Amino acid sequence: MITPSKFGDAILSLFFPRKCPLCGRIAPEGEEAHLCQECARYLSAELEIRCPVCRCRATECRCTPKPLRKAMSTVGDRKFIAVGFYQPKSKSALLNRLIYTVKNSTDDTAARVLARMLSKEILKHFLKNGEEVREWIITYPPRRRRNKRKTGVDQAKRIARFVAKDLGAEFEAVFTRKREAEQKRLSKEDRIKSAADTYAVRSTADCCGKRYILCDDILTSGATLSSCAEKLIAAGAIDVFAATALYSLPKGKVFPYRSDVPWFNEVNS
Ligand SMILES: [Zn+2]
Ligand SMILES: [Zn+2]
Repeated sequence: MITPSKFGDAILSLFFPRKCPLCGRIAPEGEEAHLCQECARYLSAELEIRCPVCRCRATECRCTPKPLRKAMSTVGDRKFIAVGFYQPKSKSALLNRLIYTVKNSTDDTAARVLARMLSKEILKHFLKNGEEVREWIITYPPRRRRNKRKTGVDQAKRIARFVAKDLGAEFEAVFTRKREAEQKRLSKEDRIKSAADTYAVRSTADCCGKRYILCDDILTSGATLSSCAEKLIAAGAIDVFAATALYSLPKGKVFPYRSDVPWFNEVNS
């Protein structure tokens, strides 16, 4: 039987066919989170990339940045979860393209795709360790206002919202930004200092006795997330865990892998 919502979906997809957020081609009906089959295949190959240090996939890599080791709570044997590795120089890496699209497009599909992958990994890990994920609150470190004005998008918030929805967990915007320093131009030491002055727990937030999963797009030095974790704990939170779409390994750790998507330049030039 066709339910009203299914019927609505069918009508919608007739007028607004689901386009793959990576290549723009029509994604087949029922395709999960709307990637086309070919992009999904290339993406799953990227998820197989091994960490050059511990030889694990991103979802199992335990090369945790130092600031996170201190600030985060341990769930099972981990302080954070990431879906894939960020390959800074690879423009054709599909995970990079997904992040770029989450940042720069008004369409939500890429954010849904990334959030869905992240939610699955969080759920798997929490279940394995006997944690009830719905007892945790999903939050995020807000972007610079100036960047948000340019594109109208806060990518961390976008991902965090969808993750909360997928997990059936509560979403809460706990932080505000006190200043507008740009993290990515700073050295590692300066990032830690700057992050400490950048985020503040909103005066209206009540963190007492609560547990948080901090969501972000890319984990780099860990300065932002660890500083936010410290602030949550100082405000009374009992546990903070980190979940990011991608993990950027320290400079000098070079990946042997680059995805080479044959149709990419042709479609996106
Ligand atoms: Zn595609
Ligand atoms: Zn590793």
